[in-house]
Amino acid sequence: MLIGKHLIAGNWVGGEQEFSSAPVFGQAHTFAMGSPELVEVACHAAEEAFWSYGYSHRSQRAAFLNAIADEIDNLAKEITQIGTEETGLPEARLNNERGRTTGQLRLFADCILKGDYLDRRFDAALPDRTPLPRPELRLQQRPIGPVAVFGASNFPLAFSVAGGDTAAALAAGCPVVVKGHSAHPGTGELVAQAIDAAVKSTGVHPGTLSLIQGGKRDVGTALVTHPLIKAVGFTGSLAGGRALFNLCAARPEPIPFFGELGSVNPMFLLPTALQQRAAQIGEGWAGSLIMGAGQFCTNPGISVIIDGPGADDYIAATAMALEDVAAQPMLTDGIASAYRSGRDRIAAIPNVETAVQASCQSREVTPQLFVTSGAAWLASEALGEEVFGPLGLVVKAADADEMKTIARALQGQLTCTLHLEDDDLELAHSLLPILERKAGRLLANGYPTGVEVCDAMVHGGPYPASTNFGATSVGTMSIRRFLRPVCYQNLPNALLPTDLSGQA
Ligand code: NAP
Repeated sequence: MLIGKHLIAGNWVGGEQEFSSAPVFGQAHTFAMGSPELVEVACHAAEEAFWSYGYSHRSQRAAFLNAIADEIDNLAKEITQIGTEETGLPEARLNNERGRTTGQLRLFADCILKGDYLDRRFDAALPDRTPLPRPELRLQQRPIGPVAVFGASNFPLAFSVAGGDTAAALAAGCPVVVKGHSAHPGTGELVAQAIDAAVKSTGVHPGTLSLIQGGKRDVGTALVTHPLIKAVGFTGSLAGGRALFNLCAARPEPIPFFGELGSVNPMFLLPTALQQRAAQIGEGWAGSLIMGAGQFCTNPGISVIIDGPGADDYIAATAMALEDVAAQPMLTDGIASAYRSGRDRIAAIPNVETAVQASCQSREVTPQLFVTSGAAWLASEALGEEVFGPLGLVVKAADADEMKTIARALQGQLTCTLHLEDDDLELAHSLLPILERKAGRLLANGYPTGVEVCDAMVHGGPYPASTNFGATSVGTMSIRRFLRPVCYQNLPNALLPTDLSGQA
């Protein structure tokens, strides 16, 4: 049952201003509108919560994370129903994404129970060292304080109210203030209800999580510039992410902005693989491109091939697989209109041919496939920019050298993929050092959509894929974003944090 209000420090709070959701189908609902005043209240509650939550034992936080996961499972049916209505994503996707969301909450619970994330270090005192004795030094990671999280439009669960950013921050010991995405306020509210129930059952401070719904740009601005906020987790557009990053950097006390801004995730098809498996790779690419109407940050938007045997077969197989794809609804009118204008922008670039023409009627879209030459791609920066949606571009390089030149000209990426056979290893060896400098994750003979939530995952990369190339927003290493190392020199055992006392 929807309440239609914000969750601020354990209270459901309404307001004079409201907005209506815009579901793809089903009933629209009314929600209270966010405001900078609510940001102020939520940030102070988060700071208040930090004095207990930030110093709680990790076993308590693990219990809290597991309780949130259980409460989300309890609302499974309702969450899937409203999630499908608000996003137009199929039921199976919502169910899978819920499993991923509860799975990552439980993964973080296990991760902090193990304690490795604390990165504890110990240097014993050397009282007899000359010329100076060494004091005893101990180090561990500590939570940074209240964190702001922006819900993403394209993952109503896994990158939203209780998504990866929130799970990592809560695991670290940081209270969270979420700005919900206005594309799915009902889904966000049900997840907040689950968190509220977990807060009550485990007795953590109610300021540990607040959800502010909707609002105008002043809500996001107030949140990232609030002096009590110590870091920001964000998944969204390059323009929005960059604007918020700039605000974080311009604060009197600058704070880290962990923005995941997407990329074109290029695939490089090496000659033998192209010759032997053109149709198979083309069909696989098409499947990856259309998944979720292409609204994934890891959507492989570009295939780079060398003009020669297999090139025409590859384009034909991809085109055939894309041609009959039924129209799919996009997440919002704005995203559908950005897809339309991105497609038109590319179509207008010289030497770009259309292999499959997309239709776009309001929010319903079909895939688009373009083909261009390596020289034309190198001459136009716009061809290296992300168009969010099921849009693919085949770049035909003249030879292996031009393929490497294209790799060097790429912007930062979340992923780069190689399709190769044994005979391609020499070229792959020369491409790999270039691609390693470009992306957070390198794949062979696969497709980048489907980001595993695990210890070894990196979902990040050099700008503009993310605003912080040292971080990942998926997997257990993402907890590092919300921790800072503290060194304790000569502190008596009685004063050390529980996790450090008695450690040698
Ligand atoms: P967005 O426009 O970047 O918005 C994300 C969140 O940031 C929203 O809550 C938005 O608030 C807020 N925001 C954006 N710019 C702001 C600013 N200047 N000041 C304060 N707050 C700001 O992303 P979106 O709504 O998800 O979709 C738009 C486009 O983002 C898509 O077409 C796509 O290109 C891209 N996108 C990329 C990814 C990815 O994987 N990297 C994921 C989703 C979307 P408001 O709602 O008030 O605007």
